[in-house]
Amino acid sequence: MSREGGCACGAIRYRLNREPMFVNCCHCTSCQTETGSAFAINALIEADQVETLKGAPEPVMTRSESGRGQQIWRCPDCKVALWSNYGGAGDKVRFLRVGTLDTPAAMPPDIHIFTSTKQPWVVLPAGTPAVPEYYKPKEMWPKASQERFAALKGK
Ligand SMILES: [Zn+2]
Ligand SMILES: [Zn+2]
Repeated sequence: MSREGGCACGAIRYRLNREPMFVNCCHCTSCQTETGSAFAINALIEADQVETLKGAPEPVMTRSESGRGQQIWRCPDCKVALWSNYGGAGDKVRFLRVGTLDTPAAMPPDIHIFTSTKQPWVVLPAGTPAVPEYYKPKEMWPKASQERFAALKGK
């Protein structure tokens, strides 16, 4: 399954060199505003596992639910968002916008978050966890993903 993707105009192309640690589908009001849609799908992955094949995304500081801001990396030409960093944590973990993958179906959500502000006509699939706001990764992530995340702290 291809793990390549890019922006709408083709100036940015990237490849994920590993499967993501976890995939959040976020129904918060910020994600709705930023995308102009009902939710954002974010694959959480180590920054060094995202290889930029073409172009150089540019960072745009944007507000986030936490109040600590999020850096959204966009194509300098078509301005499509490719990934974000959250909470002033620096560029260790990327929240990659799954819709920019060539085959987004390869990364379905592992969890639905901020469902308290979900659009009422969005019907969630049975069998996928859903929480009203955020969650503790320790309670939801597979152990291997938790270990990958923990390994980033020393970097
Ligand atoms: Zn572009
Ligand atoms: Zn959100």
